[in-house]
This record gives sequence, C-alpha cells and structure tokens, in this order.
Amino acid sequence: MANDASTVFDVVILGGGSGGYAAALRGAQLGLSVALIEKGELGGTCLHRGCIPTKALLHAAEVADETKEAAEFGVLATFQGIDINGVHKYKDDVVAGLYKGLQGLVASRKVTFIQGEGKLSSQTSVDVNGQRIEGRHIVLATGSVPRSIPGLDIDGNRIISSDHALKLDYIPKSAIILGGGVIGCEFASVWKSFGVDVTIVEGLPHLVPLEDENSSKLLERAFRKRGIKFELKSRFSGVEYTENGVRVSTENGKSIEADVLLVAIGRGPVSAGLGYEEQGVAMDRGYVLVDEYLRTNVPSISAVGDLVPTLQLAHVGFAEGILVAERIAGLKVVPIDYDGIPRVTYSNPEVASVGLTEAKAVEQYGKEKVVTLKYNLAGNGKSKILKTAGEIKLVQVKDGAVVGVHMVGARMGEQVGEAQLIYNWEALPAEVAQLIHAHPSQSEALGEAHLALAGKPLHAHD
Ligand SMILES: Cc1cc2nc3c(=O)[nH]c(=O)nc-3n(C[C@H](O)[C@H](O)[C@H](O)COP(=O)(O)OP(=O)(O)OC[C@H]3O[C@@H](n4cnc5c(N)ncnc54)[C@H](O)[C@@H]3O)c2cc1C
Repeated sequence: MANDASTVFDVVILGGGSGGYAAALRGAQLGLSVALIEKGELGGTCLHRGCIPTKALLHAAEVADETKEAAEFGVLATFQGIDINGVHKYKDDVVAGLYKGLQGLVASRKVTFIQGEGKLSSQTSVDVNGQRIEGRHIVLATGSVPRSIPGLDIDGNRIISSDHALKLDYIPKSAIILGGGVIGCEFASVWKSFGVDVTIVEGLPHLVPLEDENSSKLLERAFRKRGIKFELKSRFSGVEYTENGVRVSTENGKSIEADVLLVAIGRGPVSAGLGYEEQGVAMDRGYVLVDEYLRTNVPSISAVGDLVPTLQLAHVGFAEGILVAERIAGLKVVPIDYDGIPRVTYSNPEVASVGLTEAKAVEQYGKEKVVTLKYNLAGNGKSKILKTAGEIKLVQVKDGAVVGVHMVGARMGEQVGEAQLIYNWEALPAEVAQLIHAHPSQSEALGEAHLALAGKPLHAHD
C-alpha cells in the first residue's frame, strides 16, 4: 500500500467491482488521487462470478449445440459429450486473462489498490487492515450477492446459487431453477445444452418478466422447442431433500424432483455491518439511496453499482462509476437515462432490448399514441443461414421516435448496439430506413424493420 497516515485521497472507493473500478480508473485519468479497497478480487462479481464466466459457459454450450447439429449443415462431426473440467479450464483462462489485464490497468493508472475488508468509519474515511484511509470523497461500491428467501437455505451442495453453479465440477442429470429471470434463463440454456433435464419455476406469468411480453413469449416458445421445461405462475412453497437430490413444491400444488436446485431469484445489496447507517447514509432495505447524480444524502459520499436500486448490470456500474468520478473532478455530467441502457439475456436464443416495452410506452404515452411493428427473422437471410428463429419488435410513438427495440434470436445481443443508438438518438423510423445495412447480416433485420415501420417494407409483407 502506497500511502502514509497523513495522505488524504481525493477519492476513496470501497469495493473493486465494475462500479468501483470504473470510478477509480476514470478518476485517476482525470488526475484525482484514488484509493480502491477490495476484500476479494479486483473485478468483482462481473469478472469472477457473473458476466464473463457465464458467457464463457454459454459459448461452450453453443459449441456443443453446433456440434450436435453439424449434420444439418453438411458437416460431419460427432458429439461425444462435455468434459466439464475442460469447460472450466477454458472459462477460468478467459477470466484469468482479463483479471491480469485489469490489475495491470489499475496499476498503470496509479490507483492505490488496497487489499482488505473495509468499513466506513466516518463520512470521509474507511478503515481497512487496522488503518484509516481518508478521502475528500467516498464512493460506496460494495455490490451484491445472491439472495434467498426464508426457509430456503443455500447449502452449496444440492441447493446452490449462481456462485456454486459456475464451479460445479459435475453435470447434474436434472436441475430445478428457481427464478426465470436473466440468470435463471442463462443457466437453463447452458445446462440444457450440456444434457441436463431442466425445469424453471417462475412465480410471474412469464420468463424474463422485465422484457416486452412478446420477447418473453418467443423465448418460451424456443425453450419449449429445446425441451427446457418451465412452470409459470408457480410460487415456491418449500423444498426437501430426497435420497439423491431435492423435491421442490409450489403454492399451486406442483412437486418437482431433481438432482440440484439453483436459486436464481435475484441479488441483494452488500451493506450490512459496513458502517453506512451509522454514518447517516440513507438506506432502503439494504440499498443505498442516491439521487440522479449518484449522491447519497451525505455530501461527501456517493454510491454506485448493484448497491444502489438501479438496474443490476455491469455496464450500469461502469456508467455510474464514470459519472461519479467526472462529477467529483468537476466535469459537467448528465444523469443516466436508465431506459436507454441495453439489456441482453445471452441464452439460446438471445433476448436483447433497449427502451420501453409496449406496456410501458402505453402507460407513458397512451394506447392511441403507440405504434408497434414486428419483423420476423424468417425474412432475414443471415438468420436463415444461422437457422435461427425470432423477431424484432419496434415500439414507436405515433409519428415520432422509436422508443423501444426488442429482439429475440441467435446473436441478437450483438445487434443491441445499433438499437441503443436508435433509441438514444430518438431516431425516427424514416431516418433509420435511410441507413443502408450490409447484406446479408442480422443488422439488416433492424434496417428492414425500420423500412417497414416507415411504410416501405422490402423483404416483408405490407
Ligand atoms: C451469474 C451472473 C451473471 C451476470 N451476467 C451479467 C451480464 O451478462 N451482463 C451484465 O451487465 N451484468 C451481469 N451480471 C451483473 C453484474 O455482474 C453486476 O451488475 C456487477 O458486477 C455489479 O458491479 P458492482 O461493482 O456494483 O458490484 P460487484 O461486482 O459485486 O463488486 C463489489 C465488490 O465489492 C467488494 N466488497 C464488498 N464488501 C467489501 C468490503 N467491506 N471491503 C472491501 N471490498 C468489499 C466485493 O468483494 C466485490 O468485489 C451478472 C451477475 C451474475 C451473478
């Protein structure tokens, strides 16, 4: 550690995940002196237990599916099974490479990295390793951990969280996944590709319930086709151990048995016992409350990432961390438009969206003001080549901008970059229709959807 007791940093950041390290990197870039305190591994959930390892598993799953389906493309290949140790090695190598790169980046920006468990000890200091680290500003970025519900104890063996699922050194024959949100659907997708008999139990009427209902229904159709089972509107009522696994019962009388139960019902903030309340930081159910500039009610303290009640996504953490660093450095900042943040579920098929769902648009603008258009990927050459089914749905304010883009299909996550430009630049359908998309590409489907919405469909029926 490179500071002495008299050092007062410009910024002291507690937690080195996406939110914390983004604040550190941007702050240092702007000339601020920064201390970054992390009790575990720099990179936090996203790099070690979240985005990156899950997407590596999903890619391995895609390779498995493509091998199984190779004959459909005239390729001779034999699927012999999954070597789970090999999958973990591949995943861990990806994580290790990125981890090394991130450590180098933090060091090269001259951020003072302090390894240890910190606690807020005043409105301008954090105690760590028996030392007081003072800062003109404090950024709380302690993130989140998997949540459970009363009566459902995660034992790490047969009842597991995503943390355990990422390290499972065997492939279960069957699995129940409690929660049909992003994390639940991604694991369902991976496990099915690995040969697991999967059942998702979801209390709400649809999978990925935060998405436009059309996307949820398309995902459900695709999962059904893949043999992924799901019980919707089924609330968990209890779990018991069986000889070789678990039996889950639901309030609507269902009873399902499997080798393991993955609890994927959401993540809760890490804030208990960290001194936040004692120092007067306003909180709600463990979340730190912030305004649109990520300021808490204590002038010297900001908070970012999963710890605050905004979308729990790594790129939200990055954006919030950057905003805070720039504000502290005296730059003019603008609040984040959370509707403009791209959201991707990287299952097979992928679900990607930005902007408002149709239901939200109707709520906001009134039913008569909302226009929607669906473009079927069956009309898109590249999607046909990939043998993927799906749709792009556009939500437009009548005679105005596109306020929602919702996509389902293979690789649709990669299309969300253009979709977010369309939403965030408040583009009119005619303006997007004017842009020429490469043929044959999946981005062309976005172009064609806008051509259709602008009243001049090409590869679509009028
Ligand atoms: C399975 C899974 C898949 C995901 N996939 C995606 C995805 O594809 N895309 C996406 O955008 N998001 C994804 N996420 C969400 C993403 O990982 C989080 O939104 C993001 O990591 C939040 O960043 P954060 O900095 O707020 O918190 P975290 O990453 O949780 O970091 C907080 C850090 O604070 C440290 N800490 C906590 N308390 C202390 C203390 N007292 N002292 C010192 N350090 C402390 C922790 O060790 C941790 O490293 C996924 C999450 C999971 C679980």
